[in-house]
Amino acid sequence: MSFQELLQFIKSESERLVKKHGQGSSSREIVLPRTVKLNEEVGELCAEILALDNDQRKEKLSKMKVKNNLPNELADVIITTLLLAEVSAVDIKTALENKIKKIKKRYE
Ligand SMILES: [Mg+2]
Repeated sequence: MSFQELLQFIKSESERLVKKHGQGSSSREIVLPRTVKLNEEVGELCAEILALDNDQRKEKLSKMKVKNNLPNELADVIITTLLLAEVSAVDIKTALENKIKKIKKRYE
């Protein structure tokens, strides 16, 4: 999958979510729920990281349905991040390119 195909998927998924949840047009009605969702997904990723080395509580470990769900949770964080960028009118491709340039320059 190319980055462009990923962004096309994000755009269509974003439109589907707006239709499903009937979100309004204000920043608060769209950006806030997606920010909260991103935080939820980051929490799920953290739970997976804790589970990898059995640092998660035993009660939680026994409830985790899938062994090593790390790839799935990483994908959730990336997709929800891109969905947040979409509704925030952030050109994520340009933002990433600029950030990569900045990081490279830092370590030249
Ligand atoms: Mg998740």
